[in-house]
Amino acid sequence: MAKSKLSEYSAKRTFEATPEPAPTLAEGCGPLLFVVQQHSARRLHYDFRLECDGVLKSWAVPKGPSLDREEKRLAVQTEDHPYDYASFEGVIPEGQYGAGEVIVWDCGVYSPDEGGTCFDDRAEAQQRVREGLAKGKLSIELRGEKLKGSFALVRTRGSPRSGDSDSAKQWLLIKHKDRFVTPEEVTARSASVLSGIE
Ligand code: MN
Repeated sequence: MAKSKLSEYSAKRTFEATPEPAPTLAEGCGPLLFVVQQHSARRLHYDFRLECDGVLKSWAVPKGPSLDREEKRLAVQTEDHPYDYASFEGVIPEGQYGAGEVIVWDCGVYSPDEGGTCFDDRAEAQQRVREGLAKGKLSIELRGEKLKGSFALVRTRGSPRSGDSDSAKQWLLIKHKDRFVTPEEVTARSASVLSGIE
């Protein structure tokens, strides 16, 4: 099971050459985890990850998340990452996939929030995340240090079954209206929430 879920992750990496975590599945407990990593690869981007079913569902967000409702941020779905990746900070060496520095820009817990949250019910939360991702529309509440409140992840075009795999990977990350909305650029807060490094 770990092999098939994380086979794309494994195929892209050489674990003797990168400090990134091995492709193992994890069974967490308590509320589901989210993490956003700032990745100074060839192009700086932010990797937005949601724990579900033992892995981190992942999107690359070129401009990073925003707390401004008007800013709909492109989020390109990437391969599932192992749960242990959530605490990964380090430098992926030159010549390796995704070479560059990774820091944990934000992390916390999350829950689907359409019609109410379920932070205390892992099984229900994962079921709702699975359904939301399958239909291309997921509303979640984030409880991080920098990202707080309700967000939508919306698939913009196509579907996994349309055969157009590239368009199926395009989503938008959008802040919902709530008390955490602000026009300030949250990515200006650049320090790691784990180590404090910038
Ligand atoms: Mn990345």
